[in-house]
Amino acid sequence: MKQLRAIRGMNDLLPEQSPAWQYVEATLSELLARYGYREIRTPYLEATQLFSRAVGEATDIVEKEMYTFDDKSGDSVTLRPEGTAGTVRAAIQHNLLTQPQRLWYFGPMFRYERPQKGRLRQFHQFGVEVFGLEGPDIDAEILIMTARLWRQLGISEHITLQLNSLGNAASRVAYRNALVGYLSEHRAQLDEDSQRRLERNPLRILDSKSAQTQELLTNAPCLLDFLDEESTVHLTRLRELLDAAQVRYEINPALVRGLDYYGKTVFEWVTGSLGAQGTVCAGGRYDGLVEQMGGKPTPAVGFGLGVERLVLMLEALGGLPKTLAQQVDAYLVAVGDVQSAALAAAEKLRDELPWLRLQAHCGGGSFKSQMKKADKSSANFALIIGEDEAANGQITVKFLRSDRPQQTLAPGALVALLRG
Ligand code: ATP
Ligand code: MG
Repeated sequence: MKQLRAIRGMNDLLPEQSPAWQYVEATLSELLARYGYREIRTPYLEATQLFSRAVGEATDIVEKEMYTFDDKSGDSVTLRPEGTAGTVRAAIQHNLLTQPQRLWYFGPMFRYERPQKGRLRQFHQFGVEVFGLEGPDIDAEILIMTARLWRQLGISEHITLQLNSLGNAASRVAYRNALVGYLSEHRAQLDEDSQRRLERNPLRILDSKSAQTQELLTNAPCLLDFLDEESTVHLTRLRELLDAAQVRYEINPALVRGLDYYGKTVFEWVTGSLGAQGTVCAGGRYDGLVEQMGGKPTPAVGFGLGVERLVLMLEALGGLPKTLAQQVDAYLVAVGDVQSAALAAAEKLRDELPWLRLQAHCGGGSFKSQMKKADKSSANFALIIGEDEAANGQITVKFLRSDRPQQTLAPGALVALLRG
């Protein structure tokens, strides 16, 4: 029989890899709690309409990246490609928008893309969505918070913030017309994707990877010249707040983001240490979306952070704490007819020392073979119970990572030693 394999672009996370993920997840959830953000969990599967309406028909995601199928009753459903649409739906459905909300989520997202380093078909995002706050202060808060995250992870030297404003709807229309006017005159010089986007989603052309298209864009009209007064003030104030907080950024007038719902502030945190897939965290303001989805007009701002890319970056930069590789502190070796004494001793140690990661040997075997396993387990201590120890109610402790002599101790003395 042919061996079954996971679907292309959907990775298993193996036990060696999960400590890095747990570290990132714990760091993020603690940080978010420190800023007063609360977790929301929404379903992985939603009505297809949710995404075509929220993300936008003409976006890459909706045009070609969604996992969409009919369920058994014939309804079209989609595995979520991003987290904002579901969060907005849930916030409206459960009436959360009567007051400001600072929310976060973590989980898998699904996009049918060409798998490569840092680009998967099932990937994971941490996301933040804030509802009901319209000022630049909250934009600044989430950027200051993200900057703290990079510091805490020890990677701030390797990641930079790019910032732009997309203005209000009217200024985007005006800019769009000017851009289409300019690019239409040079249509033949555009790459194929950009030619298609010229009608469907011209702002995305600014994002083109084609060198020739980028060359053409150097003389194109600039989005920032079309900004409305309110968006200009918003951006200026945000810049002042970031300056005061010493969060460095670059203004990138070509930064547009690939989803339709953004307006005013947009940003990306970008690194050079990942090759082509350099955007680790991206987001912006989407003041129109809640109303567009049937809720009361509610300003909103948020971001999504790609966890695969962040973990790759931490690995590449050696930013993962060395202690992550260590899975247990102690390994209990039980030799002879001592199983019940060993199990009881292990439970007693776990009662006394809740932080102790104690792996108890199972399956018997010689002293030598068990000690080999103890050594491989990465534990600092082997705790040994043989027939003598069992008879005397003692445990022998052997130090696996130093040359301290071994000791045979009563349980109380062993607990005291492990505490120290
Ligand atoms: P890209 O330009 O790299 O395709 P995007 O604009 O489609 O990114 P967003 O929808 O803004 O990405 O998602 C936010 C973050 O999620 C990205 O910055 C990235 O870190 C991560 N991400 C997006 N798509 C993938 C993917 N297919 N595999 C892994 N991570 C992804
Ligand atoms: Mg994409």
